[in-house]
Parts: sequence; C-alpha cells; structure tokens
Amino acid sequence: MKVHEYQGKEVLERYGVRTQRGIIADSPAQAGEAFDRLGGPLAVVKAQIHAGGRGKGGGVKLVKSREEAIEVTETMLGMMLKTHQTGPEGQEVRKVFVCEGLDLERELYVGIALDRALGLPMLMVSAEGGVEIETIAEERPEALLKLPIDPLMGLQPYQARRAAFFLGLKGDLVKNAVPFLMGLAKSYLELDCEIAEINPLVVTEQGEIVALDAKINFDSNALYRHKDIAAMRDEHEEDAKEVEASKFGLNYITLDGSIGCMVNGAGLAMATMDTIKLHGAAPANFLDVGGGATEEAITEAFRIILSDENVKGILINIFGGIMKCDVIARGVIAAAKTVDLSIPLVVRLEGTNVKEGRALLAESGLDITSASSLDEGAKLICGAVAAHA
Ligand code: GDP
Ligand code: MN
Repeated sequence: MKVHEYQGKEVLERYGVRTQRGIIADSPAQAGEAFDRLGGPLAVVKAQIHAGGRGKGGGVKLVKSREEAIEVTETMLGMMLKTHQTGPEGQEVRKVFVCEGLDLERELYVGIALDRALGLPMLMVSAEGGVEIETIAEERPEALLKLPIDPLMGLQPYQARRAAFFLGLKGDLVKNAVPFLMGLAKSYLELDCEIAEINPLVVTEQGEIVALDAKINFDSNALYRHKDIAAMRDEHEEDAKEVEASKFGLNYITLDGSIGCMVNGAGLAMATMDTIKLHGAAPANFLDVGGGATEEAITEAFRIILSDENVKGILINIFGGIMKCDVIARGVIAAAKTVDLSIPLVVRLEGTNVKEGRALLAESGLDITSASSLDEGAKLICGAVAAHA
C-alpha cells in the first residue's frame, strides 16, 4: 500500500527522522494560512499524489508569500498531474502539503527496499540525489552503496557510519546522519515496509540532514498489525476496480489487454494469462477469486470485469478444488442477469461439482462457449475477440 508524502513524513518523524515539515491543505485559503503558520520567508507547495516526479511535472512550487501560496494552490488543486510515474491521463491533485522552505546545500539519496535475491532489506545510498536511482544503478553502479540489513538485528551503527562517509558527510553531519539512517531502518522493519525512499535527502545550509521527500510503501499483507497505517489508505489514488475487488477479498489487478480473466488460484491465473498471450491476445486483468469465494464474490468479480470497457471477451478458467464449480456457475449467471452480456464468454470448468456447474450454465440461456482445456479455452476466446474486432 502506498501513502502520500505527508503521511510518510509523519511516520518517519515518529522514528526521530528529521523531515521537511509542513501542513496539509485542501483549499487555497488553508494553504495561505499554512504559509503564515510556518512563519518563514519561503515555503514549498507540494501536490499530494501517489507518484513521484512531481517536481518536473509542475507539482512542487516554491512560494514567497501568503498570496503566492494561495495562487499556486488554486492552480494545483483539481489539476491532473502527469509525471513519469502516473498514467498518461495523470492523477488528480486533491491535497497539497505546504512545507517549510529550506536552503539546500546538497541533495543526496537514501532508500531501503527488499533485495529479492538476498531475501533481505537493502540500504542504498548515493551522493547523487534528486535523480532517479534506477538510472544511477544502471549507468554508474559505483555511485551507489548497498548495505544489506539483518532483519533481526536491524541496521548497525557501523553500517550507518559507513553510509554517511560514502555520502561524503563529515563531522557533525555524520553525527546527524547516523540516527537518521537508524530511524529510517527501524521504521522500515517495524512497520513492514516494502520501500522507504528519501529522494532527496538534503544537507541544508544550516548543517541539518533533512528528508525533503518520503516515499513509503507498506506490505499490504501486514497491515492487519498496523491499524494506524491501514487507516492512511487513500482509495482515490487507487484503481477503482481494484478497490471494489478488495472489498470482496478478490485479488484483482487491472492490466491493459482485452480479455477479462476469472480464475481461481494465483498460479492458474498466471498460466491463463500466459496462454492468452500465446494465442495472440492480452489479458485485461489478473484475477484470483481465491479458494473459498462465495457466489456473491463471484458475481462481483464478473461485474467488475464487465465494467472495464477495454474488455472485449471473457475467459473463465476454474479448477474446482475447494472452490466448487456450481458456485462459480451461480455467480456468473447472477452477474450476467444484472448486466447486458454482449461480449463472447468462454468457460472452462473442471473439478469438484463440475457436472452441476456445467448443467447450470447450459440451462441458464446465456450464450456461453465451453472449453475442455485451458489451451482450447484461450484459443477460443482469442479467436472470438479477433473475429469481433
Ligand atoms: P518529487 O519530484 O515528486 O520527487 O518531489 P520532491 O519532494 O523530491 O521535490 C522535488 C524537488 O523540489 C527537490 O528535488 C528539490 O530540488 C525541490 N525542493 C523541494 N523542497 C524544496 C525546498 O524547501 N527548497 C528548495 N530550494 N528546493 C526544494
Ligand atoms: Mn522526490
């Protein structure tokens, strides 16, 4: 789960990580008030969306007066902010974070992410902040220091010092950087983060180490033990279909193809997507309805797939183990009754209660093509969609 910059900074502050502080605002008047309350000659108005690269897209503006803060906020709120991390249509700005303006001396990079090869969180630092870290990692790997973090022991002080020296910090700055990095690592481990990235980490002209930005992603599967973090979820930032699906316990991810998929089991869902690709089309979604989905959840899943206007055909591929084929069939029939099913539907059912399931579909009066294998099902749906196009 992603959170906004202002929420990420609030979390980091709990761990003693010094951040560029600010006040959240959802109206120009509030932004003006925030400018006054911050009390400085300079402030920064920052659009809050779940994507980076806001600076280049016009979502980060320095302001020097209350009036300017109001003016900038007026244009930012409601705008569709496009960055390299948003889709082509951009993301709507609903809030701005009015932050204290800092005098930057240097911009550095620090991030922690899971290293899948090592199976450990990895601290990464670079003296080249502000730039995308992927570019540095690829083009100049020697400019990036990576230190694996022991998940039980946490980041060790000697590692934090090593990172600080690599960043070229000296004297008091090293003393400031060590608790900063230790706090960042502690928050990462304690709060089950997937990513905690500070880009840039800045050295101010006053000799402080400050997190100017904060990108914190949390492991959704661990949110049950962090209720306060779970409450930070902003559904406006998420795909509406995915939000709906999650309410019904469905694992749903929107993709950009034309074949809607309804499958049980993540492995079977992956195989189904591959087979669709093999036959020349692309999946419109990943959907694992899970082992114990109810008729209601199946109905919802079918409705969500149909609500996607990119979907030109649907392939249902169910291997009934715990999941019973007749439950799937009832869900599909119930959903198809509430919508006008005008696109091809191919169903491949196998496993528990398959006879009942097939009989229900055959008697439903729905225009369904049955398939007896995954390969045949994928071929049929790809062919049907190609014929319609
Ligand atoms: P991002 O573009 O979404 O990653 O947003 P950031 O929070 O990283 O801000 C983008 C850039 O704005 C930073 O790299 C800084 O160069 C600049 N910036 C942000 N806050 C300040 C500030 O207080 N003072 C100055 N001088 N620049 C700032
Ligand atoms: Mn940034």
